[in-house]
Amino acid sequence: MTDSASNLGCLPIEAAAPKARRSRQASVTWGPRTVTIGGDAPVRVQSMTNTDTVDAIGTAIQVKELALAGSELVRITVNTPEAAAQVPYIREQLDRMGVDVPLVGDFHYNGHRLLTEFPACAEALSKYRINPGNVGKGDKRDRQFGQMIDAAMRWNKPVRIGVNWGSLDQELLASLMDTNNRRAEPWDAKQVMYEALITSAIESARLAESMGMDGKQIILSCKVSGVQDLISVYRELAQRCDYALHLGLTEAGMATKGTVASATALSILLQEGIGDTIRVSLTPQPGESRTQEVVIANEILQALGLRVFVPSVTACPGCGRTTSTTFQELAKQIDDYLRMQMPVWRTRYPGVETMKVAVMGCIVNGPGESKHADIGISLPGTGEAPAAPVFIDGEKALTLRGDDIAREFHKLVENYVEKRFGGEHAAQAV
Ligand code: SF4
Repeated sequence: MTDSASNLGCLPIEAAAPKARRSRQASVTWGPRTVTIGGDAPVRVQSMTNTDTVDAIGTAIQVKELALAGSELVRITVNTPEAAAQVPYIREQLDRMGVDVPLVGDFHYNGHRLLTEFPACAEALSKYRINPGNVGKGDKRDRQFGQMIDAAMRWNKPVRIGVNWGSLDQELLASLMDTNNRRAEPWDAKQVMYEALITSAIESARLAESMGMDGKQIILSCKVSGVQDLISVYRELAQRCDYALHLGLTEAGMATKGTVASATALSILLQEGIGDTIRVSLTPQPGESRTQEVVIANEILQALGLRVFVPSVTACPGCGRTTSTTFQELAKQIDDYLRMQMPVWRTRYPGVETMKVAVMGCIVNGPGESKHADIGISLPGTGEAPAAPVFIDGEKALTLRGDDIAREFHKLVENYVEKRFGGEHAAQAV
């Protein structure tokens, strides 16, 4: 087996940044391929579809989009018998389209039945997400949890035991509240909630191990929606176990708020070496692509220097020296263009994701920043001569003039990529 992630997405060069917490390593397999989570593996990016799983074609198309954007595992809801029946067809469709990404099944309430009654679904999925707060109450809880663990062992699948504060095991919480009330100095309610999240995850994992599950194949998560809560919970969770950890701020929200909150929480934990896989749970704005959550996850890891997914575009913010929008448009065009090319470039131009492009607004910082990039352009600011010097590998290479500067610079970037990262492989591929 090979340790490969998606061959479609903006796939990463593994960065050298060491991880402080060494977790056990899970293996997620599909067909002959494997992607590892935890241990010495790089932090993996995950995402989740928002299509109706019964719509196998629509779901497969969205999974493909997420994989193309750089998601290394994609989770789908498996909530009904009809959805479970479609899972093998979704896998088949993905294989037919050449989408090389593992599918994770998200189960709540009836996962024990679906995984037992739909063996083809259990087999087609590469990993199961189990929410211990939603597997059943009373004496049914352990039995139904056990049925899901049995299915995981039968089909050799890893599981994520994913606790969420919105669906926390209420019996466990009540019992911890009782214990707390008997303390001479009771903890505050938030502390008890943290404890309940962590206990639910770790006790469920230990229960799975007592049933015969290999501890390496267990990944834990304890998701909450507050930044400080998430940091507190994961710091404690990381100390108390060596299972691989999945990070995510649940219900992070929309747009700027969701992006900033996720980036803040995840970055602090990742910087401390906590987290083996991440998801950004962003609510898409109307009309916005689902892939935005993958772009943000990639950018978080790239900004921290943990992974490299796409060439970076350095652009200045602009100021009173740039009264036209030319440089903003060019920076956006180049950024979009580089992202769009990555699924093809990744195989055709190995190493291209490390490229740095600068698009600057005027001569104040333009030439300097452009020299630090692999290829950079300094556009004319207000009142400057209508000329845009282009720097390649630190040297001024030429000056662009006229109305077609954007298109010409585009072409120069293309040529640079071909020349610098093409090699023999490019010659064969073209
Ligand atoms: S490089 Fe020029 S246009 Fe850009 S922010 Fe600095 S001074 Fe303003």
